[in-house]
Amino acid sequence: MAPGYYSARITTEAEAGMEPTIRWPQGKRCAVALSFDLDGESPWIHRDPALAERPLHMSMGAYGPKTGAPRILKVLDRYDLKVAWFIPTWIVERYPDVCREIVRRGHEVGHHGHLHEKPFFLQGGAEEEEALLVKSLDIFKKVLDLRPRGSRLPSADPSKHSMELLKKHGFIYHSNLMDTDLPYCHKTQHGELVELPTAWCNNDWPFFGFSAVPPVGHGIWSQEDVFAIWKEEFEGAYDEGGFFNLMGHPQVVGRPSRMRMVSRLIEHILGKGDVWIARPIEIAEHYLAQR
Ligand SMILES: [Zn+2]
Repeated sequence: MAPGYYSARITTEAEAGMEPTIRWPQGKRCAVALSFDLDGESPWIHRDPALAERPLHMSMGAYGPKTGAPRILKVLDRYDLKVAWFIPTWIVERYPDVCREIVRRGHEVGHHGHLHEKPFFLQGGAEEEEALLVKSLDIFKKVLDLRPRGSRLPSADPSKHSMELLKKHGFIYHSNLMDTDLPYCHKTQHGELVELPTAWCNNDWPFFGFSAVPPVGHGIWSQEDVFAIWKEEFEGAYDEGGFFNLMGHPQVVGRPSRMRMVSRLIEHILGKGDVWIARPIEIAEHYLAQR
């Protein structure tokens, strides 16, 4: 039986037993998306409002917009890469300058909740979720003069309403679910919403995210071990002509050691010579156009 949360509303090629090949542009062999969820303090506060009074946790979160993001921007510029930044609008209001700099450098900005509210856990149902979405869209317009067309929901944890609401409000894609390797479409009442699938193993948080009290994370991994995992995931996607979707958090991956490792990964990917590294919105639009 299909899982209840999306039965009859989502059909995928994978469910039909097929994983069609996607033709990537300009004869490229595979596609790569890099994205950074610029959470700042928001997930800590959303997890427990008392943490807003903990200088330690607020500083851990602030490392993202204050220190990690500028370092990441510098690395991306070095390789002339344009990526996506998914930003809670509470952070857009708190750190408008770094957000404007992200836009100025040609990166895509996507939706990531307001104060990192996980849709699946909202008590107020579709109404509360839509009100938060509209609030975020208003803040993006007011502070950055843009309208995001992509979303990574906080903690990549949608509710049964999320896809309908995103499509209703003009989104092209979201990047959350973990059931396939290749992009596909969700059917909603308002049309199709592209999924750019994710995976925990291509996310920095499980390897590096840490707090002693409250206990969060699984210890701190060596960046070399994580490099081995990400490189091999990329190699698999490259072999199959697939899609490699890497998710980072500036407060986590923005450390010097980890960005040196990410730089080596970028150099490895670029060294292939036939990989399409693009903003997720470009990958979603390409997928829609070539089907
Ligand atoms: Zn997040």
